[in-house]
Amino acid sequence: MLIVLEPEISQENKNRILSILREGGCIFREISDAGQNIIGSTGNAGHPPEYFESLPGVARVVPVNTAFKLVSRQMHPEDTRIRVGDVSVGGDRIVVIAGPCAVENREQIMATAQQVRRYGAVIFRGGAFKPRTSPYAFQGMGEEGLKILAEVRETYGMPVVTEITTPAQADLVMKYVDVVQVGARNMQNFELLKCVGRLGKPVLLKRGLSATIEEWLMSAEYILSEGNDDVILCERGIRTFEPYTRNTLDLSAIPVIKNLTHLPVIIDPSHATGIREKVSPMARAAVAAGADGLMIEVHNDPDRALSDGAQSLYPAQFAKLMRDLYVIAPVVDKQVDFGYLDKARAVEHMERPEGGEGGRAAFLGEIGSNSHKACIRYFGDRINLMSVNTFREIFEAVKEEQADFGLVPIENSLSGSVHENYDLLLEYDLRIVGEIMLRVEHNLIGHPGAGVDDIARVYSHPQGFQQCRQYIDRHNWELMPVSDTARAVRHIKERGDTSEAALAGKEAAEIYDMAILEEGIETNPRNYTRFVVVARHPLANGKKEKSSLIFSTGNKPGSLFEAMKVFADNGINLVKLESRPIHGKPWEYMFYVDLEADVEDDSLAPLLDRLLEKTDYLKVLGSY
Ligand code: PEP
Ligand code: MN
Repeated sequence: MLIVLEPEISQENKNRILSILREGGCIFREISDAGQNIIGSTGNAGHPPEYFESLPGVARVVPVNTAFKLVSRQMHPEDTRIRVGDVSVGGDRIVVIAGPCAVENREQIMATAQQVRRYGAVIFRGGAFKPRTSPYAFQGMGEEGLKILAEVRETYGMPVVTEITTPAQADLVMKYVDVVQVGARNMQNFELLKCVGRLGKPVLLKRGLSATIEEWLMSAEYILSEGNDDVILCERGIRTFEPYTRNTLDLSAIPVIKNLTHLPVIIDPSHATGIREKVSPMARAAVAAGADGLMIEVHNDPDRALSDGAQSLYPAQFAKLMRDLYVIAPVVDKQVDFGYLDKARAVEHMERPEGGEGGRAAFLGEIGSNSHKACIRYFGDRINLMSVNTFREIFEAVKEEQADFGLVPIENSLSGSVHENYDLLLEYDLRIVGEIMLRVEHNLIGHPGAGVDDIARVYSHPQGFQQCRQYIDRHNWELMPVSDTARAVRHIKERGDTSEAALAGKEAAEIYDMAILEEGIETNPRNYTRFVVVARHPLANGKKEKSSLIFSTGNKPGSLFEAMKVFADNGINLVKLESRPIHGKPWEYMFYVDLEADVEDDSLAPLLDRLLEKTDYLKVLGSY
């Protein structure tokens, strides 16, 4: 049951309720939902709901009408995020777990880990204790296998997950791995569930072969009731009458689970389909359906795998899948981050002055704006954010060391480049160290209870109006431009006039507790903004894929062609070319170029030398 407390309940009255629950053997959690204080309890300590309702300081009692309590969304309205090393499961970034079915030997594991890490996996998998259908099949390497997994973490900085098949292995898995997996066959091994509930490490709980969603959540409830709230649910296909796939992948479990529980859910298309060719299509569908992550079997030599070779991807197939997911994820407001682990390390180990706290990133506008969202997407939740009022202030803050990073929008797929930021990149001596692309969705946001027909005046950033032109033209509204979309929402909230609305993202509606009156009203849904991250120094975060340069050429025939030819001769693909007027020199231009190469890599030094010869001015903005 949920005991909703009066806002002004005294500590004494609250303690009294807690001790009644404690003495009655209930497991309870204190919850804060949209400013309300609630105690969620798994039992009623032998008292009827009316008894609690009559206690001083209690507003009302709401029964939790599902069999599962602690895992229920009612008990914890916000999504749970589970920290695994530098990785956060359940956030905006898709978490891809990859590796072979079983640890077979050191070479196989190190080779596979190196590949999946390179292509974007953030957690490594491998079974050391294999629950096999046949007692004659390979049963796993045991502790030797776990030691190899621990070496993967040391070498590649990837957390590792492995399956536990009996409580007797608890000490061993605790010693070597970051996440313990409970396999499909053990989903209702209640002694094992209680054991992992006490281990204090995140648990990846697979759905049983024939388990209903409720049975699966009841198994998660076992783990939470032992005090471990860090459970990642993993759908891996269920038994049906269909023989063309190993199991039937229940993707509809994703929206069902998202509604019923706050726990993150990932999809294992490998065990679900059992056939390599079917894995990528289902992985793409899982991301589109809202999964928080994937678990994919990848083997460096699947044809010689000791288990599940037929469903294991070749590393090249995994690379292709990751690139596809990178494109799909922003459509559903998520991100595949190829730099996830490197970035986390680089930010974590940044040099900062004595006593300085963690890294700080500056962005324009309010909490809930697209820039804010892009910051969280790029850095995760372990960065301090600093909100400023102009783009120039972002560059200043980074230059003056008040911030380590700045994040600025550089172009939009509909409205083109943000020229002010191009000019600032030229003026300031900062480096581009990363980029991120966000899908921009606009909603009509108003006061709870208001309807679209009540609206007379609408606030937004001018780009918001421009991007929702068709929708706006159907109404006779007064348009009020403000500096960012989140500010528009705050503004209408503060004014309290129910005939006013704002055009903004759904995050702003959530933050300010306002209602979405109409969703997805932008004229063109293919609306993306690309942001770049600037810093004083390059990040030590591994291989770079892209570079940005600015150059100018003399005003003579063929000079731009000569510069471009340097890239062509080196087989380098340009992804953007734009010209900007040079201030104070009418009709002379700077060229801004993005290309697919790390021009600061030693191997490309001759290219830069040649480019210098062909240009009057050259500045490398950064490689990332
Ligand atoms: C595994 O992940 O290796 C495994 C055995 O999966 P499941 O328990 O889903 O069959
Ligand atoms: Mn397997």
